[in-house]
Amino acid sequence: MRNLFLALILFGAILSVNAQTNLALPVVKSSIGGINIYGKPIDQQTRCQHWHSELDVIAIKFKCCEKYYPCFSCHEEEADHEPKVWPKSEFDSKAILCGVCGTELSISDYQNSNNTCPKCKAAFNPGCSKHYHLYFETEDQK
Ligand SMILES: [Zn+2]
Ligand SMILES: [Zn+2]
Ligand SMILES: [Zn+2]
Repeated sequence: MRNLFLALILFGAILSVNAQTNLALPVVKSSIGGINIYGKPIDQQTRCQHWHSELDVIAIKFKCCEKYYPCFSCHEEEADHEPKVWPKSEFDSKAILCGVCGTELSISDYQNSNNTCPKCKAAFNPGCSKHYHLYFETEDQK
């Protein structure tokens, strides 16, 4: 049983190495206004291998490591730990980065932004709200 478990981990590691080399999109080192973007960004506006539409221009700072990632999957694939969500009491922390102008927004600013950067008026992806629970404490979380 234990060996099977190890074999699975090994297999997973091989798969992820292959996945990285087979992906068509290149990973770029991204830094916006001196803030590093981790994970798998593909441009200088925080688009990543998972989310790269016209509107995907924000990065989220994760509570666990205080590093900006373009998305949850980027954190999942690149970070060596479980993600933590921001508790409501810390929604005034700056944890959202506009990839267009480099402004950092607090979580409340972002949630009240109507999916538009207050500084540069860039449009953010309204679909991100479906994923709030991956980053921020929400009502239905215990
Ligand atoms: Zn983290
Ligand atoms: Zn991503
Ligand atoms: Zn902006």
